[in-house]
Amino acid sequence: MPRPLTTSLNILVIGAGIGGLSTALAFQQQGHRVTVAERVATMRPVGAAISLWPNGVKVMHQLGLGETIEGLSGEMTQMRYLTHTGKTLTDFSLAPLFGDVGQRACPIARAALQQTLLEAVGTDHIQFGRRCDDYTVTQDGVAAHFDDGESLHADLLVVAEGTHSRLRSKLVGHPVDRQYVGYVNWNVRVPADATLAPLTHWDQYVGDAKRVSFMPMGSGGNEEGAQEFYCFFDVPLPAGTPNDPDLYRDELRAHFAGWADPVQALIERFDPARMARVEIYDIPPLDSLTAPRVALLGDAAHGMAPDLGQGGCQAMEDAWVLSQALERALEENTDTSAAIKSALAQYDRARVDRVGEIVQRARKRAAMIHGHDADDTRAWYDELQREDGQAIIAGLKTTVTGGPLG
Ligand code: FAD
Repeated sequence: MPRPLTTSLNILVIGAGIGGLSTALAFQQQGHRVTVAERVATMRPVGAAISLWPNGVKVMHQLGLGETIEGLSGEMTQMRYLTHTGKTLTDFSLAPLFGDVGQRACPIARAALQQTLLEAVGTDHIQFGRRCDDYTVTQDGVAAHFDDGESLHADLLVVAEGTHSRLRSKLVGHPVDRQYVGYVNWNVRVPADATLAPLTHWDQYVGDAKRVSFMPMGSGGNEEGAQEFYCFFDVPLPAGTPNDPDLYRDELRAHFAGWADPVQALIERFDPARMARVEIYDIPPLDSLTAPRVALLGDAAHGMAPDLGQGGCQAMEDAWVLSQALERALEENTDTSAAIKSALAQYDRARVDRVGEIVQRARKRAAMIHGHDADDTRAWYDELQREDGQAIIAGLKTTVTGGPLG
């Protein structure tokens, strides 16, 4: 429900991904007038599913979407690592983590999450098929310039364009190059089946610096209510290898020859037309995520390796922190420009170190999982054999509780 505000700002958000829509919703709920401009005419989320960890789900609860998301997502209560041949390395309950932080994780279909956010924001507030190419700061705000030659004026501009952001370099004042993390990820949804993995387990097979994962992701609201697994394969490969759906099955057969039966069954079962194949890149941590009248947010600000499952969760945290900062600043400042300046400074203070640390940790974890140093990866496999869940849960808890909602 929008709250009454003494000052209702005109806010323009570039990008209708997880970050842009979460931000739009947070600002709408504070009573601001929000427009979202999205490059594509029709949203087609790339990738099968996403695991929202408790820090992300807590933001969704604050925005009134928590129950919907919990209802659409999978019940994941146990975590297990296995060798490539299927020998269990460690198998433990996630209940202590969820109990301690007061929130479970929600693995969810990307399409279901996207639809939930789109409906909450309202498509009337989203201008599809408009690509923002530039912006200029004006005397009383900011103007965004679009590929159709038109411009929109706003009090505040939020750049949530994703990892390929066009506006990021201008905003931070220097070129920012994406860095290849060194591996390729194939991800897909398949019907959940206990012969692949226990229905509430997150199973991960590891070996030879590769990984195969099965995660319960719920039905995502599909018509039959059928439960699905979110599955992915990771293989260290050079950048620029061919991406051809006709080759996926043969490629994966070759990369995972000799792996356990559930991995073989998955390779024979998935639908290549529903699969995404992604080379994994991140961007180096940035010193600032703001410029006068502009905030950078989500993957545009901190594209990261998915090895902590935190990119989308951090975009949600960004949305929450930015909206809260603006609310506080508007209470403390009668002048709109001063309030925006103060909110952007608060956002920078709260986010630069938090997201920078997570980008670096995700890159380190990607290196360990994917064999940048073979000895480190072997040591990790040995560690998993001794793991009773406590160290992994402690790591997850640190990430979750470092967020704005504890
Ligand atoms: P995007 O989703 O990229 O959205 C940006 C939007 O902006 C797009 O719709 C785009 O069309 C639009 N756009 C771009 N340029 C313009 C322009 N100039 N003008 C107008 N519109 C524009 N995160 C998790 O939290 N948990 C996970 O388990 C997880 N798993 C992942 C697995 C993989 C394999 C990958 C690659 C990522 C994973 N992530 C995960 C990360 C997560 O997907 C991203 O962090 C998240 O989608 C970023 O959202 P965003 O809104 O910032 O960017």
